[in-house]
Amino acid sequence: MHLARFPRRRYTAGPTPLDRMPHLEQRLAADLGRPVPELWIKRDDLLGLTAGGNKTRKLEFLVADALAQGADTLITVGAVQSNHCRLTASAAVREGMACRLVLEERVPGSFHADASGNHLLFGLLGVERAHVVPAGTDLHAAMEALTADLDAQGRRAYLIPGGGSNALGALGYVACAEELMDQSFDQGVAFDHLVVASGSGGTHAGLVAGLHGVNANLQITGISVRAERGAQEAKIHGLAQEVATLAGVAAPVPQAAVAVEDGYVGPGYSLPTDAMVAAVRLFARTEGILLDPVYTGKAAAGLLDLVRQGRFAAGERVVFVHTGGAAALYAYRDVVASQVPTA
Ligand SMILES: *Cc1c(COP(=O)(O)O)cnc(C)c1O
Repeated sequence: MHLARFPRRRYTAGPTPLDRMPHLEQRLAADLGRPVPELWIKRDDLLGLTAGGNKTRKLEFLVADALAQGADTLITVGAVQSNHCRLTASAAVREGMACRLVLEERVPGSFHADASGNHLLFGLLGVERAHVVPAGTDLHAAMEALTADLDAQGRRAYLIPGGGSNALGALGYVACAEELMDQSFDQGVAFDHLVVASGSGGTHAGLVAGLHGVNANLQITGISVRAERGAQEAKIHGLAQEVATLAGVAAPVPQAAVAVEDGYVGPGYSLPTDAMVAAVRLFARTEGILLDPVYTGKAAAGLLDLVRQGRFAAGERVVFVHTGGAAALYAYRDVVASQVPTA
């Protein structure tokens, strides 16, 4: 792999921290009455741009490509509380570009023009216009139509797919895989397992491709936030193979390198579950780390359940990739709010 061959913008000063979570380990060991594996966290919630998260890494490659093509406007798509849309808008500000969004109302009635969370930030970041469309709309066609409109006005739009999850965007997580392996070596911690949220798939697929490319031999588990296991595994495997090829990895990505758990979605994408709320509270109260309601809260619910089930042996080391998203918590006030005792 030779990532320096790809144009890249830099939106984060250095590597994100790789930390152990000792208080979370102690709490789980006390609850279970037995030793638990070492639990580590890769703090990709501390990436750059506005309240950065995993999309920051993808945008480094995607926006560099947009600039190389002479684009003046970024167009992308996401759900009504999309972190990806927030970070695309932020990258546009950073580059002096305009930003237009297509917002898919995946859950009917979920769009509120006065919503908090990411929606509030779309406005603050100066998004030029958001086009709200119902679930089931052909999103690519909607973005193409917007592009044609702007081109007719003499502008030049660059279209970024949902979640930034094409092969170029997923290179951001090949870079993360390399960064993680460097830190693992520097800090003297050899991981056995990695757990990460799996949505549009660029993050999971980039990690699979990158860790395969360096023969890391650690087991990656993607926690689905939306799709059913078989469909998600097929999608991730296909994208991982594309990314690996783009990055110059010769050996094919084995199907066995892709594993998805789909038992933590609950009633559907972005809809709260009790296990999500419990995970958000537990990470906040043991480690002072904010998870989000849509992705990392459900991924952490999966991590905690796999620990409880004994999926990882005591003495093994597990790294959880925190992909960000806490800005969305403010749009889920009624679900996550906890009363502070007052005197
Ligand atoms: C988009 C997102 C994910 C999922 O990443 P994909 O690459 O789309 O699978 C996970 N966590 C957060 C906070 C996100 O915004």
